[in-house]
Amino acid sequence: MALGIPSTRTDHAPTVRDLLAAGDRSFSFEFMPPRNEVGERRLWDAIRRVEALDPNFVCMTYGAGGSSRSRTVNMVGRIATETTLTPVAHLTAVEHSVAELRNIIGQYADEGVRNVLAVRGDPPGDPMGEWVRHPEGVTYAYELVELIKGIGDFCVGVAAFPQMHPRSENWDDDIRHFVAKCRAGADYAITQMFFEVEDYLRLRDRVAAAGCTTPIIPEIMPVTNIRQLERFPQLSGSDFPEELKARFLAVADDPEAVRAVGIEHATAMSERLLAEGAPGLHFITLNHSTSTLEIYQNLGLHRR
Ligand code: FAD
Repeated sequence: MALGIPSTRTDHAPTVRDLLAAGDRSFSFEFMPPRNEVGERRLWDAIRRVEALDPNFVCMTYGAGGSSRSRTVNMVGRIATETTLTPVAHLTAVEHSVAELRNIIGQYADEGVRNVLAVRGDPPGDPMGEWVRHPEGVTYAYELVELIKGIGDFCVGVAAFPQMHPRSENWDDDIRHFVAKCRAGADYAITQMFFEVEDYLRLRDRVAAAGCTTPIIPEIMPVTNIRQLERFPQLSGSDFPEELKARFLAVADDPEAVRAVGIEHATAMSERLLAEGAPGLHFITLNHSTSTLEIYQNLGLHRR
């Protein structure tokens, strides 16, 4: 480790980079920091269920506000020390000085956490609002990657967008900036949620055509209730395919049928992505493990 970051457990913790380099496909799950005690109990329940599957890693997202941020740091530390799971800590550049970012990374190193997902984050409130850089902070994710890599031997992931980042004006710029993030040291990428396999394949082809071989792990987000048809495009900036939307709307009055369509679609997407050579699958859980575990089981992915 460089620059005085303690190396307590960090030299031994596995990294996503090692796993992908070994040619293994990676299976992972994403959680959010809990909002309160009830949420924390539900989260631990989901974490323990996921732990029984022995996934390759689990992610903890990083929020916009102070207390949510400290809950992320706290949860990542607890996952590292109290479970058998390998945590990946998300980190954003929003409203952070470089000194604060260095401090958070130092806390992770103290806990033995070597895996960080570096994303720029969106402006609080309106994701498409004006991006205001902290006066002593950074502007783009590639700078965050450089910062983390400069601090020590961290394995750093970045975000990729199968339908182009909503702020990008064209694909050429989008891919150029993605490749710059990889050249800054990113070891792998995880995509934004998407609902058509072709979007992932096109992105992968474009990145490969730009001479970049960084593995891109697709993110799987099952639709489990009808409200998500509106919510997911807002969250992700991605279009929802009309044909799939029609399948959900046809059973809109039957919550179980909506959930069944969502799980069936996510399972079919996952199967096709693996058949197309995706380096793994990353499942969003929204801190409920049930539907993601169902997809995992449908795919026959039990490692234990
Ligand atoms: P960047 O790579 O910095 O790109 C942002 C925009 O700037 C793009 O349009 C890009 O093309 C452009 N750009 C990049 N470099 C340059 C340059 N040098 N010059 C000009 N333009 C440039 N958000 C959270 O708040 N917390 C999380 O935990 C979180 N986790 C996420 C996990 C995943 C897998 C994904 C896909 C997203 C996540 N997000 C999270 C959302 C993410 O922060 C937003 O989507 C954000 O808008 C994009 O972040 P980025 O890291 O891709 O940004």
